[in-house]
Amino acid sequence: MMRFRYSNAAPPGGKWFYRLNGLWFESYHGKNDLLDKVRKHYAVNGKEVPANLDEIVCDFICQQLPDGFCEGEREGKPDFEAKPLTYFEVVMELEKLFRGRKYRYVDSRTAKDHGTVCYSCPANRLGMCTTCNGLRGTASKFIGGRTVSGLDDYLGVCAAYRVPASALIHVEPVTFPVNRPATCWTRAYERTATKVADSKE
Ligand code: SF4
Repeated sequence: MMRFRYSNAAPPGGKWFYRLNGLWFESYHGKNDLLDKVRKHYAVNGKEVPANLDEIVCDFICQQLPDGFCEGEREGKPDFEAKPLTYFEVVMELEKLFRGRKYRYVDSRTAKDHGTVCYSCPANRLGMCTTCNGLRGTASKFIGGRTVSGLDDYLGVCAAYRVPASALIHVEPVTFPVNRPATCWTRAYERTATKVADSKE
């Protein structure tokens, strides 16, 4: 389990966050505010709050931050959960994935379906801000400014593809990372791509 190097410090960017049962909780008002929200969720669902909720939340945040802010061992989670994201990595991956590549755009209803899956996906990292650093705007340029109303704010960086999910959901993917959650919507496209490849052999 990981913990903050300085226990009274706030995470970089001042955002506290946690995911539970596919729901995302966050607060800019401090750890207690976040813990209150999570405790309420437990109460509403009639579940007992873990005695070490504070530690569990700090570990969750630490697992998503780059090295330096926290101490302790990273756990052997799948890459899409454990590997920290950095701003420059995301910019580079955006360039690699989109620059000069031809993708087929999906219609807005399909994009919304994709985004709905991303919303509750464990690889949807909302811990990294995508608006304050211009990442979402940069990604948007690669997809002709397409958006999904009411959903974009809940899409962070996809930790499997390492780019903002708000851009991914609009295209038919042509690459398929090995480390994706089993529920990832891109798997349906991978199956189609495999069938096409098989029929050509
Ligand atoms: S693209 Fe797939 S892996 Fe990435 S956030 Fe969406 S559902 Fe999750």
